[in-house]
Amino acid sequence: MTEDCIFCKIVAGEIPSSKVYEDDDILAFMDIQPVVKGHTLVIPKRHFPSITDTPDDALKLVIAGVKRIASAQRSALSADGINVTQANGAIAGQVVPHLHFHVIPRFENDPHSWTAPQGSYDRPDEMQELAKTIAEHAAKAQ
Ligand code: 5GP
Ligand code: ZN
Repeated sequence: MTEDCIFCKIVAGEIPSSKVYEDDDILAFMDIQPVVKGHTLVIPKRHFPSITDTPDDALKLVIAGVKRIASAQRSALSADGINVTQANGAIAGQVVPHLHFHVIPRFENDPHSWTAPQGSYDRPDEMQELAKTIAEHAAKAQ
C-alpha cells in the first residue's frame, strides 16, 4: 500500500466503495463520478502508478478483470457497447496515480462522446519515420 493513494485506501477498506468484483489480485468498483451510469474502475490491488510500471503478470489479471466487468455490464445493464479507457500521467488526464481501467457502458443517446479531432502528418514520410522509431523500441520494450 502506498500512503496517500486513494485507491490503495479503497483496497484497504479505509475509504468505502461500491465493489462489484474482488479477488486476491484485483478490485472493481463503481466510479463516483460516472461518465455514464454504471461506469466501473478495475485496479490491481498492488500499487503501480501507470501501465508501463505494471508487471505483465499483474496486468494480465487486470485486463481479464476488465473483460469480466464489460461482460457484466453487457448482461446486467443491457449495454449496447462498452468503452475501455486508461490514462497514464497527468498530461494524459490521469488524476489518480494508481493504475486503473475505466469500463464505461454505452447506450443509445447517452451523454458520453467518444469522438476526438482527427489529426494528420505534416509530411508523407513522417508516419513511416515515427513507425520505424517506435518499432525499434517496441522490439526491446518489456
Ligand atoms: P483518472 O482521471 O485518473 O483516469 O480517473 C480517476 C477516476 O477516479 C475518476 O473517474 C474519478 O471519478 C474516480 N474517483 C476519484 N476518487 C474516487 C473515490 O474516492 N471513489 C471512487 N469510487 N472513485 C473515485
Ligand atoms: Zn495505490
